[in-house]
Amino acid sequence: MTTGGQPLTSILDAPGVPPVRTLFGLWNDELSESLREFGLPKYRVRQLETALYRQKLADISEITTWPADLRKRVVEAGFRVGLPEIVDTFRSVDGTERYLIAGSDGQTVETVWMPEGDGGEEGDSDEAPPARTWSRATICVSSQIGCAVNCQFCLTAKLGIIRNLSAGEIAGQVAAVLKKHDAEPGKDRINLVFMGMGEPFLNYDAFMAAVRLLAGPMEIPESRMTVSTSGIVPGILRFAHEKVRPKLAISLNAPNDAIREGIMPITRKWSIAEVIEAVRQIPLRQKERVTFEYVLLGGVNDQQEHADEVVKLVRRAPFPAKVNLIAWNPGPEVPFTMPRPDDVARFQERLRHHGVPAFIRRPRGRDIYAACGQLKRTVASQ
Ligand code: SAH
Ligand code: SF4
Repeated sequence: MTTGGQPLTSILDAPGVPPVRTLFGLWNDELSESLREFGLPKYRVRQLETALYRQKLADISEITTWPADLRKRVVEAGFRVGLPEIVDTFRSVDGTERYLIAGSDGQTVETVWMPEGDGGEEGDSDEAPPARTWSRATICVSSQIGCAVNCQFCLTAKLGIIRNLSAGEIAGQVAAVLKKHDAEPGKDRINLVFMGMGEPFLNYDAFMAAVRLLAGPMEIPESRMTVSTSGIVPGILRFAHEKVRPKLAISLNAPNDAIREGIMPITRKWSIAEVIEAVRQIPLRQKERVTFEYVLLGGVNDQQEHADEVVKLVRRAPFPAKVNLIAWNPGPEVPFTMPRPDDVARFQERLRHHGVPAFIRRPRGRDIYAACGQLKRTVASQ
């Protein structure tokens, strides 16, 4: 298990060979500290940060702002960049791409790229470089391999928890995907959702270290990031004290504790009221709203009486909120059914009628099963 971008030392290293030390994921003092033996002046560390987080170079030998001799010595001491690598790509007709990205031990996680575009032009000529068909995009990022929370409708839950991702592995998913699309957060509108595999608030330190990397040298504004939690109260309370933090989404998924317990056993540990009380502690930014995510499961939580209870719950919440409705993505051996489309529409209508902002998230990448582990094949439609 790794935390906070600490390098993983391979157990396979032969005796006498320096252990592999990963640089991607370290920043500022952590980089200076790791490379202390080289006595690097500050500007050399800054050049390294640019190479890692702006240029996203995959190899120390490519850092041409450094003298060849320094690159060689750093490599000989066992350092490597360790930028996570895309090992498999699935492309949907709607432009959504799902990647398997290898972490430091070769284990893969899933990351999804969801472009929103002007439609672009389909290449008229073979010679023309491929036109960029997106004007903004959302990247769905994983925080753990597998998940311990055991929500009954979720495919990731079936894996159990395999391990936490390090800060470098979390931010590295974004770096790998940005690099693939030649996207620059300074210029392009890139949103991040931490809604991939895993429960970010059960890997809190690495997750927040990744957020600081992403908001810092990787230049993605925190206001363009959203983290989703199943309602881990101690994590929410820590989150309330963060200076730099994404927006928050809570996976509500049920109108009351009784139904929620049946589909999210974590409710026995922290009730809906306790989660809401914890969220109340977060000082929200101007115009910021908390999102309640609500996965509609056919016949379980998608009826009018459920919508009425959700209305009461959201209207009583002591903070501004909105609801994102998500039709359940079916998966093998998960004993639920999809909601009927007219039930989804009526659910939204009921919420809106009573003044609760409600949005239906539209499916993305259906044909490539971008819902993967569970996973994100939806993106906000507002
Ligand atoms: N663990 C965190 C973040 C990852 S799950 C959480 O639970 O919030 C991200 C979202 O996907 C959650 O709102 C979850 O309820 C939803 N989800 C899980 N399985 C799903 C499925 N099969 N279909 C649709 N949404 C699903
Ligand atoms: Fe984990 Fe989220 Fe899936 Fe629940 S919905 S099992 S918390 S990934």
